[in-house]
Amino acid sequence: MTPATCQHCSRSPAREFTLRRHVGLLLVMQNVRVEQTLCRECARRELRRHTARTLIEGWWGVLSLVIFNPLTIALNVWNMTRTGFMKSPQLSTAFFGVGDDPTRDDRGDHMSMLIPIAIGLLCLIGITGVVWHG
Ligand SMILES: [Zn+2]
Repeated sequence: MTPATCQHCSRSPAREFTLRRHVGLLLVMQNVRVEQTLCRECARRELRRHTARTLIEGWWGVLSLVIFNPLTIALNVWNMTRTGFMKSPQLSTAFFGVGDDPTRDDRGDHMSMLIPIAIGLLCLIGITGVVWHG
């Protein structure tokens, strides 16, 4: 069995991730859900991108504000924490020299993960405050 490779950069190890994005408008809303096989670096980049868009586009409806957007953000943050258990992707000849350098120090990456997690938590706290206190 050949190991799974990343759909974006062809490196491995890679695993399947569900990327979620929510768009909430007054009367309409849209849940976008994409399944992709990604390495750690690409998964983090794509999860950050989807979460950032959700943080901007997701709040503009009642059900979106209270239920769907916090849920979408929480699931993306959960997926982001799963990338912490993956090994650095190895270079492949298909994509040599392009993308993130897997040999560099990883500490910076862990710090950058804290930002979307912190934003997500703050949003959840804010929302639960609004719901409980009217
Ligand atoms: Zn990749």
